[in-house]
Amino acid sequence: MKVFNDISLLPYNTFKVDVKVKKFIIIDDENELKSVDIDKNNYLVLGGGSNVLFTKDFNGTILKNEIKGKKIIEETEEYIVLNIKSGEIWHDIVIWTVENNWNGIENLALIPGTVGAAPIQNIGAYGVEIKDVLQDVRFFNFETKKIEILKSDECQFGYRDSIFKRSLKNKIFITDITIKLRKKNHVYRTDYGNIKEELTKRNIQALSPKVIADIVMDIRKSKLPDPAEIGNAGSFFKNPEVNLETYLRIKEKYPDVVVFKLENDKYKLAAGWLIEQCNMKGYEYKNAAVHIKQALVLINKNHATGKDIFELSEIIKQKVFSNFGVELEREVNIY
Ligand code: FAD
Ligand code: NAP
Repeated sequence: MKVFNDISLLPYNTFKVDVKVKKFIIIDDENELKSVDIDKNNYLVLGGGSNVLFTKDFNGTILKNEIKGKKIIEETEEYIVLNIKSGEIWHDIVIWTVENNWNGIENLALIPGTVGAAPIQNIGAYGVEIKDVLQDVRFFNFETKKIEILKSDECQFGYRDSIFKRSLKNKIFITDITIKLRKKNHVYRTDYGNIKEELTKRNIQALSPKVIADIVMDIRKSKLPDPAEIGNAGSFFKNPEVNLETYLRIKEKYPDVVVFKLENDKYKLAAGWLIEQCNMKGYEYKNAAVHIKQALVLINKNHATGKDIFELSEIIKQKVFSNFGVELEREVNIY
């Protein structure tokens, strides 16, 4: 455990917002959690800071997760079960699995952040979500002061949603997860985004986790700003799910509306498309902006404050609502 007082969070959030935190504690062993001195109502667990926006100084305690480790806990000819500590970097784990030819998380390559944050919003990309491979989540509960475990089907996973964003919000520290990956007979998810197109272009016949991960990484690099160069937190808003009536109303005015029919009889609209239709691609506000290539991503253009970025998100919400009557919900966690 290492403790720092009154430091800048600039290196610890991918939006590169310069705010201060009163107390910053690096946790590298789960046993430290029992004795860590925090105000239960004023603390935050931080992984890679790639899904947070700090709008002001944080006057409580940040617990920075650096608990590392990974191991195989079960293996058969068909599958492998891995236990991974929460402070591991998610993308490094994806690379480890694809290099071993284990299938299941190849579509989730290049998502920034830590393993422990992955179940929080049930990370997803290209038709795969972590819930598809997750067996259980282990965490320290600051209320009971005990380690507890939830099986995947107890985590109330939804689209960018879980129990950890709801009843367990601000109560727990995820210490490790267990995932099950396939070694054979895997059904690859290639129908999403441009994956199929890329497979044809590259004339690839035999699929492997590495082939898919390489394509996903190339597509992502071509579309998304690299947080190491331009401050951002990926998609700022969730894709809204609307009912048939709303979808038809929008389709009448915009026949080329980007929409996906969901199993629950709702219609998913692409939030990026809605923002683009408001002529906001590249829109600048104070020192923040809407990314020129992907309207769903807000960027720190030039030393923006968290407040600048938040206000920009408010303007976007208002414009989308007045044009489409659809309420955008933020995906990024605001502090
Ligand atoms: P942080 O930002 O540090 O934390 C996020 C939230 O989780 C906070 O509320 C925090 O308190 C909580 N938290 C973190 N760790 C723990 C823990 N151990 N225990 C309890 N609570 C914890 N997301 C996707 O789903 N799909 C994508 O394709 C995707 N692409 C992205 C691309 C870019 C360029 C960027 C910048 C972000 C992208 N994201 C994506 C969002 C982000 O990478 C994920 O949400 C990621 O899981 C966040 O990890 P983190 O460690 O940075 O979490
Ligand atoms: P894209 O391929 O241009 O597609 C635009 C939107 O359409 C996506 O948001 C995706 O929804 C949806 N979509 C595409 N194909 C679909 C299908 N076959 N069925 C249902 N919905 C479909 O998207 P992109 O911006 O380049 O992102 C590619 C993937 O990476 C997406 O899954 C996206 O969620 C993920 N991503 C997430 C973040 C983040 O921060 N959360 C950032 C970058 C990329 P979904 O978003 O619901 O998948």
